Amino acid sequence: MRNYKDDWYHKGLRKQLVEQLRSKGITDEQVLNAINTIPRHYFLDSAFDKIAYEDRAFPIGEGQTISQPYTVAYQTQLLQVKRNEKVLEIGTGSIYQAIVLAEMGARVYTIERQKKLFEQNKQFFYITRYPNIKFFYGDGFEGLPSFAPFDKVIITAAAPFIPPKLVAQMKAGALMVIPVDEGDKQRMLRITKQPDGSCTEELFDYFSFVPMLKGRNG
Ligand code: SAH
Repeated sequence: MRNYKDDWYHKGLRKQLVEQLRSKGITDEQVLNAINTIPRHYFLDSAFDKIAYEDRAFPIGEGQTISQPYTVAYQTQLLQVKRNEKVLEIGTGSIYQAIVLAEMGARVYTIERQKKLFEQNKQFFYITRYPNIKFFYGDGFEGLPSFAPFDKVIITAAAPFIPPKLVAQMKAGALMVIPVDEGDKQRMLRITKQPDGSCTEELFDYFSFVPMLKGRNG
């Protein structure tokens, strides 16, 4: 059961969360504005209602999690999203990250490998507000060749390596934000695709993600 009422209490908690993210170094006002707008408690069981705006990850079933708001904000800030850009997301999960991108005006293509989550997500009434999100059930390692090329790519699971097929689906000048490495900690990388097809890498902080797994499930 979820609580789909968004009252002054939730709005107040959301404001506090935004201030917390600011104090942790998030400066992109568009990102902060999206987080201030989206009722994160809609994405969680009502048992989490009072703690939905704490800066931490929560379970969403199928052994998966809704990412920590700081992680969502951090990755989104690195992605430098502009209105109408085509963004490919790997790991739909709770849809929270996809909705942050959609709220910022991106055209989002999001892939989930867990059939059950994909089916559940289609039932979630809140997505009707965001016709700029397209949902796909599939293996993120393959990307979406028929919708390529993309302006931005964001991976929200721990990738064992930079998937070459996703790099191939990036425009020249496109950015990819990807947590790479197996084990407990991932390095956050930002990849820029150069006009000659080669890539440059920038290294950012360390984070902890659930693994990006091969193939579909279900
Ligand atoms: N962006 C999500 C984070 C979800 S956790 C959110 O905002 O809630 C990561 C998700 O990636 C999980 O749902 C997991 O099932 C999915 N995932 C893992 N490997 C994948 C793959 N190869 N292709 C697509 N999705 C994948």
